[in-house]
Amino acid sequence: MIKVVKFGGSSVANATQFAKVKQIVESDSDRKFIVTSACGKESKEDHKITDLLYLCQAHVRYGVSYDSILSLIKEKYYGIKKDLNLKVDLDREFENMEKLMTRDVSTDYLVSRGEYMTGLLLAEYLNADFVDAKDVISFRFDGEIDMERTKDLLLKHTKPGRKVVIPGFYGALPNGVIKVMTRGGSDITGSVIANVIDADVYENWTDVSGFLVADPKIVDHPLRIPRITYNELREMSYMGANVLHDDAVFPVSSKNIPINVRNTNEPDNPGTMIMNDCSEYDALEAPNFVTGIAGRKNFTIITLIKNHCSTEVGYLRKVLSVFEEFRISVESVPTTVDTTSVIVQSELVSECIYEIVARLREVIHPDDIRIDEHLALIAIVGRAMKHSPGISGRLLSEFGRHEINIRAINQSGDEMCIVVGVDNRDFEKAVRAIYTKFIAEVNEK
Ligand code: ASP
Repeated sequence: MIKVVKFGGSSVANATQFAKVKQIVESDSDRKFIVTSACGKESKEDHKITDLLYLCQAHVRYGVSYDSILSLIKEKYYGIKKDLNLKVDLDREFENMEKLMTRDVSTDYLVSRGEYMTGLLLAEYLNADFVDAKDVISFRFDGEIDMERTKDLLLKHTKPGRKVVIPGFYGALPNGVIKVMTRGGSDITGSVIANVIDADVYENWTDVSGFLVADPKIVDHPLRIPRITYNELREMSYMGANVLHDDAVFPVSSKNIPINVRNTNEPDNPGTMIMNDCSEYDALEAPNFVTGIAGRKNFTIITLIKNHCSTEVGYLRKVLSVFEEFRISVESVPTTVDTTSVIVQSELVSECIYEIVARLREVIHPDDIRIDEHLALIAIVGRAMKHSPGISGRLLSEFGRHEINIRAINQSGDEMCIVVGVDNRDFEKAVRAIYTKFIAEVNEK
């Protein structure tokens, strides 16, 4: 078995967290490839090293002194080094970095130093080999990761049987220049490494025990989701449930490698297993009809009323072409015989709604146009809803029972997700009502 384990910023925020990481790594000899983020926040008031590095870069660029920011960064690394009695030559590392801190310093180089230095400390502490991400994670010039080359480089730079620590978040272009991924990119590094070495599992260690059925800010102590499919996860994260970087899914899902989201502060909790297909496990222990509930507020519905529009060939295309002209991404398009509603994020149309309406009048000649704002969308996601008659009926009657007015409904063809639109002010109440009926009451029995 080979496991790739990635530790997020809070898992390596200080010496105490480093010690937890060591325990986790040493408790399972399959945990051979260790990817680390840069030190994150120790407390709410603390700063993420990556944020400080971005700030440093801005100061360097505008010629403003960055000394106080750099000393916060140094304090963090020297503190961990001292607490854990490590020997890494941080003086030399910081000297090298400061030499390059002139006005034209590469932002990517500078901000990658967070993961780089955290990786150096962690490798020594875990008695593992340090492999610099610039030597193994290979970007093409178009910004995509070259998986074949990454695989070759990883084989070249690692010794069989040895544990390695690889900094996340960055790699290098073919000319050796350092390039970073988007924020939270260490998740992608872990996923890419899991792909190229054909890992059995990709463990993503963070500060939550996996995915929760609903947002804990809305529902008190929601249950953990033990297993979720990649498709369900996509729906949930699109609707705002974010634990993993979006781009971390494909490299592992394409090779059927499960992701296990775990909590460094609660290592005995099995967390959430994300798989292409959960049916083997579902046969042993049936999942809830609802795997998860996620949602977002602040959508706008633009409703076009026109007699017989549903029989007019090309009508929908013309409506959508107007949104395309304004480069507005459309969420969904519920239609009836004479009406077509277009749901979009309010912030995307806040500046141009009147222009859009004028253009729709020109292109469509509708009998009327209505705009309704303050809509929240709630996605009720569940692979077990498929082929289960009555679920949407029960779901909708729950809204009625709580006197929540439904303003839009949409169900995907694969029956895995029902999206219900309600007033912003009913959002939390609706999420709690669905959670109580479909999760709390069911699991109490
Ligand atoms: N350190 C980077 C960030 O803060 C990458 C990561 O943590 O995954 O975005």
